[in-house]
Amino acid sequence: MPSTRFDGELVTLNADVPPADGRRLTEFADSFLVEVSRKLDAEPPAPSVYVFGRRRDLRRFLRRESPAFAKRTGACFVSEDGDVIIALRASRNGQPALDSLRHELTHAVVAANFARPMPWLDEGLAQCLEEGMPPGEPAEVLDELAAMDDIEDRILRVVSITEHADLTATDYRVAWGLTWFLIQDGGYGWQAIRRCLEPPEFGETPAQRLARGLGLGPEPIARSFKIFLERRNERSLGD
Ligand SMILES: [Zn+2]
Repeated sequence: MPSTRFDGELVTLNADVPPADGRRLTEFADSFLVEVSRKLDAEPPAPSVYVFGRRRDLRRFLRRESPAFAKRTGACFVSEDGDVIIALRASRNGQPALDSLRHELTHAVVAANFARPMPWLDEGLAQCLEEGMPPGEPAEVLDELAAMDDIEDRILRVVSITEHADLTATDYRVAWGLTWFLIQDGGYGWQAIRRCLEPPEFGETPAQRLARGLGLGPEPIARSFKIFLERRNERSLGD
């Protein structure tokens, strides 16, 4: 286990890092949690973050605490006692990579506030905030999605997935682009994201849940995302 514990306002960090680095990381994590929670009109959680220098120590920890995530290099889960736990691999100097930390902290905000988030939205949000936004634009991902001629079908499939484990690497990129679009689009924005995170109503399908959150079902949203990608593509070709 990591040897040193740092208590932030919200985050408890366990890592093998010098005191100044530990304090800097907890401050970074605390302010990130407050910022993301404000966007989602949610309560900032108080997660415990464990940073492991060795891959096998991370694996051992995850096998014991959350076996479904045992093969990940980063994970966020809620313990049996209801504590929000983040486990990460250290990149160098015993420190976690800040993009991975942002990704898992975003999951912590969602996990602590919203029951059973739709997997594509949970991952899409984590990817968007991992990259930092706004104004950062995931240009490469959007170009890649615009080049797919079956992008509408992919979206229809991705938004109906109910288990995180069923998301493929391509699904992650589709989820990322679609979430980015929703956040940036004046007609949706953070409020629409928040409505989509509200717990499902009894017997509600993912399609119905999306329609309740956005006022639009999967087919119209897939169509408008495709149109957005095409316009963006034409603009960049015209430059
Ligand atoms: Zn994730």
